[in-house]
Amino acid sequence: MADCLFCKIANKEIPSLTIYEDNWSLGFLDINPLSLGHVLVVPKEHAENILDLKENLIGKLFSAVKNITEALSDAFSPQGFTIGINHGRISGQAVDHLHIHIIPRYEGDNGGSLHSVVKNPPSEPAEEVQTKVKQAVEKLRNKR
Ligand code: AMP
Ligand code: ZN
Repeated sequence: MADCLFCKIANKEIPSLTIYEDNWSLGFLDINPLSLGHVLVVPKEHAENILDLKENLIGKLFSAVKNITEALSDAFSPQGFTIGINHGRISGQAVDHLHIHIIPRYEGDNGGSLHSVVKNPPSEPAEEVQTKVKQAVEKLRNKR
C-alpha cells in the first residue's frame, strides 16, 4: 500500500528501531512506548486488520509474537504482558495496517487488565448470543 506508514517501515523506506524480522513479519519498538520494551509486530504484507490478513500469514504472525514475547521476557524480565490489537477506529486503531502490541507489564505500572478497556455488558441472554454466533460460524464454514 503506497501511503501506509507500516508498509513503509516494513519496506525500510522509513526507519524504525527493528528488533525482530523474518520473511513474513517485522517487530519494532513503538515510538511512544507505554512501558519498557513495548513492541509492535506487523505482517510485511499489507493487511488492515486480522479479517484482512491472508490465512497462511496468521500462524506466521503469531509465531513472531511468541518469539518476541520470549525475547522481551529474557531482556527485561517483566512480570507479564498485555498483548493486543486495536481493531477499528472505535477501539483506537490509528494506523490502518494490522499491528499487535506487545506491552511488557511490571509491578506497580498503574495499568489495568483487558477487562478495564470496555464496560458495555450486553442485555441479551447469553444463550441468544451463543445461537447467533454459532449460526454465523456455521455459515462461514459452509462458505469455505
Ligand atoms: P494503534 O492506536 O493501535 O493504531 O497504535 C499505533 C501505534 O503506533 C501507537 O502506539 C504509536 O505510538 C505507534 N507508532 C506510530 N508511528 C510510529 C512509528 N513511526 N514507529 C513506531 N511506532 C509508531
Ligand atoms: Zn500497510
